[in-house]
Amino acid sequence: MTQVASNLQIDSARLWGTIHETAQFGATPKGGVRRLTLGAEDKQVRDWFRNACEAAGLEVHVDTLGSMFALRKGRDMSRPPVGLGSHLDTQPSGGKFDGVLGTLAALEVVRTLNDAGIETEIPICIVNWTNEEGSRFAPAMMASAAYVGDFTTEDILSRKDAEGVTVGEALDSIGYRGESPVGRQKFSSFIELHIEQGPILEAEGKTIGVVDSGQGVLWYDGKITGFESHAGSTPMPLRRDALATLSEIVLAMERIAIKHGPNAVGTIGEAVIAKPSRNVIPGEIAFTVDCRSADAAIMDALDRELREAIAGISARRKVDVTLDLVWRKPPTHFDSTLVDAVEQAARRLGFSHRRITSGAGHDACNLNTKIPAAMVFVPCKDGVSHNELEDATQADCTAGANVLMHTVLALAGVAS
Ligand SMILES: [Zn+2]
Repeated sequence: MTQVASNLQIDSARLWGTIHETAQFGATPKGGVRRLTLGAEDKQVRDWFRNACEAAGLEVHVDTLGSMFALRKGRDMSRPPVGLGSHLDTQPSGGKFDGVLGTLAALEVVRTLNDAGIETEIPICIVNWTNEEGSRFAPAMMASAAYVGDFTTEDILSRKDAEGVTVGEALDSIGYRGESPVGRQKFSSFIELHIEQGPILEAEGKTIGVVDSGQGVLWYDGKITGFESHAGSTPMPLRRDALATLSEIVLAMERIAIKHGPNAVGTIGEAVIAKPSRNVIPGEIAFTVDCRSADAAIMDALDRELREAIAGISARRKVDVTLDLVWRKPPTHFDSTLVDAVEQAARRLGFSHRRITSGAGHDACNLNTKIPAAMVFVPCKDGVSHNELEDATQADCTAGANVLMHTVLALAGVAS
């Protein structure tokens, strides 16, 4: 690599400026962002992003699910580009950094290369993936999932939001149903910078998370059927109480996840009593379970032990419990060559770093099933994300963008 390239630094103030400039699209009173995918504010930030990319000399095209691709030519155009980027949509009550940092840092990388007059050997391509968040349309990360063939384009286009508007209609309403078939834009590799959305880096005082894995997910729908009866006249030993049963299941889940820690988690996040009443013993409850681990063997153990625990509890309490697996996503093991490249960039730039598992899902996890991918994490304040209070420091965002740039330079090569 040339001297200029190996010493290159992104423009911290310019990156910070774009993060705050785009935060006006959907700005909330408490300093957060509400930018639901394919809504009016999403159109505003997409238009801003397209203009910025074109001003930086990039060729922008949009696929039929609205994902935006901005290509910077390389010396060897016969090879697919190195991809970098993230997403610009947010949660209904989201922050300024989730997804935005990775997308705007990618733009900053290109601007920095332009200023330095650096041509890469392989082209590079910035991506803004449609609907990473999944709060308006399910599933989350649907565009990258369709990109790798987990869903057909037609299936995703027909998904509806709570008002009955389809993805296709929403794309048309903001003018972002592109021409390019999903999957046509190829990549040789993909790197995503993101805030950690967890507390580990901050707690350990590390600047860079070298993400080597992503948690696998088990989602269940459960149902408990006991027997409704009078709260005053039914003696305790004769009850078949669905809520008392659920309470034991919640504690069993907690015990099992702790046993398989530190990288296993289990959560019962929804529980609905069918006919709640102060003086009726709950007879029927629907609940959900979310279990995660980055280790496939631990995922199997979580499944087995949860089912065993439930079988014991339901037999003893004489209630019926069903547990249906509705989604199983295997753990992600990011490409080791790319993970090493991220680690080397962090080390060479002198940032404290550690290997880390992503607790949240990301587009890069989907992409990694078909193309080599990896991620760079930077700390966020108190580990808080999906919240208006989400925050990250300018120094950490700058460090992450520099690691992103030097990883991309290592992968794309500098044309001599
Ligand atoms: Zn995100």
